[in-house]
This record gives sequence, structure tokens and C-alpha cells, in this order.
Amino acid sequence: MLYKRSSALFVKAEKVIPGGVNSPVRAFKAVGGTPIFAKSAKGAYVYDEDNRRYIDYINSWGPMILGHAFEPVVNAVIEKTKLGTSFGMPTEIETKIAELAVSMVPNIDKIRFVNSGTEACMSAVRLARGYTSKDKIIKFSGCYHGHSDAFLIQAGSGAVTFGSPNSPGVTSGTAKDTLLAAYNDLENVKALFEANKNEIACVILEPVAGNMGCIPPKEGFLEGLRALCDEHNALLVFDEVMTGFRLAKGGAQELFNIKADIVCFGKVVGGGLPVGAFASRNEIMNHLAPLGAVYQAGTLSGNPLAMAAGLAMLLELSTDEAIYKRLEEKTAYLHKGIEDVLVKHHIVHTINRIGSMISVHFSDNSVQDFDSATKGNNDTFKKFFHGMLEQGVYIAPSAFETWFISDALTYEDLDETIKAVEKVAVNL
Ligand SMILES: *Cc1c(COP(=O)(O)O)cnc(C)c1O
Repeated sequence: MLYKRSSALFVKAEKVIPGGVNSPVRAFKAVGGTPIFAKSAKGAYVYDEDNRRYIDYINSWGPMILGHAFEPVVNAVIEKTKLGTSFGMPTEIETKIAELAVSMVPNIDKIRFVNSGTEACMSAVRLARGYTSKDKIIKFSGCYHGHSDAFLIQAGSGAVTFGSPNSPGVTSGTAKDTLLAAYNDLENVKALFEANKNEIACVILEPVAGNMGCIPPKEGFLEGLRALCDEHNALLVFDEVMTGFRLAKGGAQELFNIKADIVCFGKVVGGGLPVGAFASRNEIMNHLAPLGAVYQAGTLSGNPLAMAAGLAMLLELSTDEAIYKRLEEKTAYLHKGIEDVLVKHHIVHTINRIGSMISVHFSDNSVQDFDSATKGNNDTFKKFFHGMLEQGVYIAPSAFETWFISDALTYEDLDETIKAVEKVAVNL
């Protein structure tokens, strides 16, 4: 049995942790079987409790853009730990990472650090509402902004995988202030603005959607949203928890040359420790407590270990000029390799890719919004997932997730992955 110890550990976990996991997608519900338990990871590989090695395309769902246990990050955390792990007082390293982030990301003057992407998006929307004195927000079906109440209206990712797009526990009062639009559909957004004149505080979106597979914005979509927000005095909030420091040093704002009003971060910014952040220009950030009236706080926010990990990560990303080009080339190579195999075996598919994000959909229509993302063949995906796992390649256990390419992946790893697809494709 391949996953003997993992299966035994899962049985124990299920007794004391709901579903055996602390975040739903980890449970393999969408693909069946029991999750593999991680024991350690280094570079491009993660090792499970049965001592099997996997080439990792999840990378902790995004943070490990330089590979696992990246030495400068590990060393920074070890050194900081020796000096005490939390003070609840300001520390110099918080300013250092803030200065670096502000220098890397366009259109921001100030940044506030929190403990997760969820917190970042939740706080960004509160700030947008406080700043504009309006209540409603527009979000897109299939975009995920963490699990706070206002966003659990057709959220992507785990929420979609489990078929509970609107979670019980979210009040109808909260839900009525969240308006839903279709991704890449500008007319839809325009109609919502017209029907809710002077009520929209912000439009929040993933500038490249990553929680319904990878879906890049259509030409003109982000520009159109910018113009609509300007016309209606609403803020444009980019949730760059996934894309921030991944698509470019300055994230999607830099890549597409679009100015957002508030930007949310998470994942990469913490180097694998629990960190989120939101940022904007002074005019908006100065509304935040203690300068302004919009309240937001955190006992462990700006935690020194987390800041040390994040700073080491951002330092590497800011100084390695070629990193984003390298990541893109590796992703393009993988794309072509997988594409060739699937074409050869006549397997219906659509591959979406941008930068170091890629997703394989077993569907022949183009995937550009939530509706088209759900049209993929999930039975094929399940077989594909388990086949790849057996071949020692770990991709996300859901058809609604993006694969993340890390810089630790070598071309040999990519070739091995393509060979695995070849073996698995025979049985699809
Ligand atoms: C992961 C993610 C979040 C939530 O971040 P957590 O750290 O899991 O709370 C929010 N937005 C996007 C786009 C994400 O990918």
C-alpha cells in the first residue's frame, strides 16, 4: 500500500480535527481517497510520511516560489527565533519589510501587515467602505478572497469544490451587500453600477483569477474596471494574495500596468509563514487606526519570525533580476510538454497559463469565467490526479486550482512530470 502511514494518520486526525484537516481542500474530498501527510520538503520536492518523494506543484498553495526550505528564509527565521518570538511592540524589521514592499509594488505608500490573506481582504474592504462611506461591494463568481462572511458568496476554490457556494452562517444581511458579477464580463459590472448608484464602495477581484483554475483577464477587462470605478467613485481592490510578488516584483499592477486603489497580499509575502498585508496610497491608508477611524488590529501582526521570513523572500525576489523570466520559461516549457502529450492521446483539454501559474482543464471550451471553468470533466481530472500522485507528482487535489511553478524546479523535473503525464494519459 502506497500511502499506509498517511492513511493511518488521517484516521487519527479525523477523530479530533473536523474532516482531519485544518483547511478543507487538503482533505482530497473532490478527488476521493485519503490525503497524503507531509513529513518534510526541500527545493522542488515534498516527502510524505511513507517516505515517498513528490515533485511539488502546489508549493504550499503558492508561497514557496523559490522552493521549499529556501536557505536564506530558513536561516532568517532561526536567527530571529533566538531573540524572542513575539513582543507586541513595534520592531525594526516591520519597517524594513514595509520599505522593501513599498519600493517593489507600484502605487502604494503604506502597507499594513496581518496574519493571512483572509484578514488582508476583509480589512481592505472595511477600509474601502470606511473611505467611501458606501456599503456595497462587487465581487466575481469563482474569485476567492478568503473565508470572511462578505466573500462567501460564490467563492472559488474550496468553497466550489464542496458545492456550498453560499456558506450557512453567513447572514442574509451580510450577503445582500455583496453583488456578484461574472469574471471577464464588463457589461455585467456596468449594469450593477447602474442599478446601485452611489452605493458601491469597491470592486474586488483577483487580477488573474487563480481559484477556479488559472484565468487571466481578457484584454481591456482590468482597464474597463478601472474606468468604471473612477466614473462611480468606487475603489478598485486587487486581491493579489496569489499574484503578488509572483507575476512580477510589483504583481499584476506592474504586469498589466493598471493602478489599483488597494492591494491585498498573502502567500509569497510571508515566505511560508502566516502573513498577509494590504496597501494603498497615503490618502487612503491614513484612514486606518490609529491615524484614522477605520479599526483594524492584530496581537501577532508583524510577528518578527514571520517578518524575517517575508523579508528574506522579498530580498531575494527584488535582487534576482531574471527570476520572473525564468519562472515564465519553465511554465511555458511544461505547458508545451503537457499539451503535446494530451493532443497525442486525443484527450479533450484546455490549458491556461500566465507567468508561473498554469491549470489543465479537461474541457474543450475556452475557460474564461466560473461557468466555463465548471464545464470540465471531473472524472477525468480525478483519474489524472491520482495517476500523477502515483507517479510522484503532486498537483492540487481539485480541478479548480492553479498549479504553482517554483524556481527550484529543474528542466529534469519538468521532463519527469511530462513523462508522468504520458503514463497517466494512456488510462484517461
Ligand atoms: C489564498 C487566497 C486568499 C486567502 O488567504 P489565506 O491566507 O488562506 O487566508 C485570498 N485571496 C486569494 C486570491 C487567495 O488565493
